[in-house]
Amino acid sequence: MSGLPLDELPPGLLRKWAAARVWAAHRAPYLASALLTLDPVVVPDTEITGGGAALRRFPADVGWHLHISPAELERQSVPRIGFWVLHQLAHLLREHAAQYPGAAAPDAAPGAGRTPDQRRWNVAADAEIYDDLSIGWLEPPADPPPPHALALPAGRLARRYWELLRERAEPIDPAVTAGDCGNGCDGQPRPWNCDWPPLSRTSARLTALETARRVREHLRTREDVPGGWRRWADEILQPTVNWRRQLATQIRRSIAHTAGRVDFTYRRPSRRAASSPGAVLPSLHQPLPVVTVLIDTSGSMSDEMLGRCLAEVDGVLRAAGVGRDRLTVISVDAQAYQAQTPRRLADLRLGGGGGTDIRAGIDAALARRPVPDLIIALTDGHTPWPDDPPPRTRVVAGLLDPAGQTPGWATTVVISDERPRTV
Ligand SMILES: [Zn+2]
Repeated sequence: MSGLPLDELPPGLLRKWAAARVWAAHRAPYLASALLTLDPVVVPDTEITGGGAALRRFPADVGWHLHISPAELERQSVPRIGFWVLHQLAHLLREHAAQYPGAAAPDAAPGAGRTPDQRRWNVAADAEIYDDLSIGWLEPPADPPPPHALALPAGRLARRYWELLRERAEPIDPAVTAGDCGNGCDGQPRPWNCDWPPLSRTSARLTALETARRVREHLRTREDVPGGWRRWADEILQPTVNWRRQLATQIRRSIAHTAGRVDFTYRRPSRRAASSPGAVLPSLHQPLPVVTVLIDTSGSMSDEMLGRCLAEVDGVLRAAGVGRDRLTVISVDAQAYQAQTPRRLADLRLGGGGGTDIRAGIDAALARRPVPDLIIALTDGHTPWPDDPPPRTRVVAGLLDPAGQTPGWATTVVISDERPRTV
C-alpha cells in the first residue's frame, strides 16, 4: 500500500482531523509531543477489502504511522477520533507490538483475517490501556469495553490479561474482538501498512522518555493524569538498571572510544616494519582522555545528590586510570565559573545558585586546551542545550531530574534517588 499524504484529504475532513488532534492534545496535554511524532497516512477506502470499516480504530504501525480512512473520518465524531488517536498512542508508547506473545500471522494478503492469537492480544492490550483513557468522559466509549465488562480485574498489564483470557474455556465474544488496533498493537503485518519511512526504535524510545517526563511535569501542578500513565511513567523513568553501573558503562565506553580513536593511528602496523623483522617498533601509545565535568549548581540541585554523582564519576575515572590531573570541574548556573582541577573532591568550591544555562559550561569546557575528549554534565536538565553536538567531544549527561531535558545527541543516564520501588 502506498498511502497518501494528509493534504490529499478534502478541506472539510482535514479540518476535522486537525480538530480531533486538538481535542486529543487538550485532553491529554502530557501526550502532546508523542502526538506530534505520529505520522498520519491517508488510506483510500477503495484500497481496503471491506472498505474503511477495517480502519475504524485508526490503527497505527510500529513506525508510528497512523492510518486514516476518509470514510471513517467522515463517519465518526471529533472526540471519538481523538480518542482513537490517544488509544493508538498508548499502544505505541507501551510497546505492545514488541510484547506480542502469540504465533506470527501467516500472511497479510488483502482480506486475510487476524488469527485468534492476534485477536486475544488486542483485547488484552486494550484492557491494559483502558485506564489510560479515563480522561474525564461524561460517558466513556463502549468500545473497547472496560476490563470488568469482560470479567477481568482492573489495572493489570497486557501479558497478564492475555494469560487470563487464554485460560478461559469459552472463546471471546466476536463483537469484542472485531476492532483491529493494527500492527502497532501486535507487530504483525496489515494490508494497509505503507512503505513510508518508519520512526526509528531509538526515536520512539526517546519520544517515550520525553512523554514520561511530561507526565511527571504535569503531575506537579495537576492531578488529572490517569493512574495508568503515572505507573507507566514511573516504570520508564526509574529503570531497573542501577544508574551507577550505567554511568560507569557510559564513561568507560567514551574512554575506550577516545583511546581507540587516537591509538589507531599510532598502532596501525607499517608494512615496512612487518617486512623487516627485528626492526624496533615504536612503543604503543595508550592515550587517556581529558575529561571535564560540568556541575549544574542552579538552585534546584541538591548538594547531597551532586556529591554522590561526582564521587561516582571520580571513582570510575580513577578505576579506568584517568588521574585527577586530567579531570577538570566547572560549575555552571547561568554562567560558567572558574575551572578547577581538584586534588581532592573536598577541595572543590562550587559557585552558582542562579538560573541554569548549561551551554555556558559546554562553551567554557570547549575553550580549554587541550579540548576535552569527554564532557560529563551533571544537571537536572532544566536548561537550554546547544542545538548541535560539539565536533570532537562526547557528552554524557547525568540527569538528576527525570523531568529534565537532554538533547538527542548526548548520552543520557537518568540518575534517580534510590528509594525502594513500590510495585
Ligand atoms: Zn487498541
